[in-house]
Amino acid sequence: MSLIEYGQKGVYFVKYNKKTVRDVEVAGKKVLLRCDFNVPHDEKTGKILDDTRISASLPTIQYLLENGAAVILCSHFGRPKGVWKPEFSLSIAGEHLATLLGRPVPLTRDVVGEDTKARAAALRPGELLLIENLRFRPEEEKNDPEFSKELASLADLFVFDAFGASHRAHASTAGVTKLLPSVAGFLVERELEVMGNALENPRRPLVAILGGSKVSDKIGVIRNLLDIADTIIIGGGMSYTFQAARGGQVGSSLLEADRLDFAREMMDLAEKKGVCFLLPVDDMAASEFSPSAEPIPVDSLAIPEGLMGLDIGPKTIDLFCQALADAGTIIWNGPMGVFEFPAFSKGTFAIAKTMAESTAITIIGGGDSASAVEHMGFADTITHISTGGGASLEFLEGLALPGIVCLLDRE
Ligand code: AMP
Repeated sequence: MSLIEYGQKGVYFVKYNKKTVRDVEVAGKKVLLRCDFNVPHDEKTGKILDDTRISASLPTIQYLLENGAAVILCSHFGRPKGVWKPEFSLSIAGEHLATLLGRPVPLTRDVVGEDTKARAAALRPGELLLIENLRFRPEEEKNDPEFSKELASLADLFVFDAFGASHRAHASTAGVTKLLPSVAGFLVERELEVMGNALENPRRPLVAILGGSKVSDKIGVIRNLLDIADTIIIGGGMSYTFQAARGGQVGSSLLEADRLDFAREMMDLAEKKGVCFLLPVDDMAASEFSPSAEPIPVDSLAIPEGLMGLDIGPKTIDLFCQALADAGTIIWNGPMGVFEFPAFSKGTFAIAKTMAESTAITIIGGGDSASAVEHMGFADTITHISTGGGASLEFLEGLALPGIVCLLDRE
């Protein structure tokens, strides 16, 4: 791993050169493959709402099976908090994976208990097995070394392909790498390659567009991107803190009063560094946070008392889309409004459509913007949709990802 330094500010991105499944012998090996099958699903019906994380794990699974490995899959699913709860069973993901692979995916009846151990021991090359939800064991999130040992005892090799869990040091991520030779899968390799290139050597202009509800979640990303991007666009709930910081009236819109200084500092820094920093000029507001609320157009710096901004307005859509028009690379994280309410989804839709039609390298940093793009039907023409919301934010922030730093380096 090498750290790329930028100016006086320090590290802005960690450059990884990790071994992958291609760099090691897998034939005849028992492979513990950590995937991220934590897919959004309807809790009542169990229907999977977005299967990207499962389908994105297929290349590594297929490669291992075709190359003579016995594959023991494991993942977390939801937040059962260390307790066995049937509604958090990985059976939903396992059945979907079985459909995609066209073969059964047997699921263990425990999490590295007698059943898992016996079935893992009997597994032959070209066969696979799925361990029940790792988070049924409280030791998983505690990164308990004994639980890592139990997991490691099942296999000869560890493959990490759960990019969405790479920002967490858990027993099945960082923990197990202390005990087994550990390499990356294809999903992780691609995430690091596309996002790494965008930071190290972007096709310019590099435009970053950030939204979502909270400034506080994206502080590190904004600060870091100010050293790399040519343009930073801020929309969504977090924009009101910036508008208030420059003296605007934001009515009852989302506001993080303790981030006003940070917002001011970032706008000053952008000016000093010559980074174009764009904020909304108009919004669609409502008197209540409700899907049936009537959208009311307002000036972004003069939102009347009692109204809250829930989407960017038409002039802002034009402004932002123009800024995206000549971009060489676009990185997007966070919706432009409450896109879950159809009446307030126009801004997010417009950005998704513009990105989908753009000839730029387009990267979506997971989370809500990724599901918005999927649901709006634009996913196919986006260069890269990250499978990790939190993980991709930490990557863009320049933080080392604990699930990845510990994998074997290439010579
Ligand atoms: P985040 O997880 O921080 O990326 O935020 C995503 C959430 O931000 C989504 O659920 C959106 O509904 C919400 N959001 C975006 N814009 C606004 C806004 N103007 N007011 C309230 N919530 C918003």
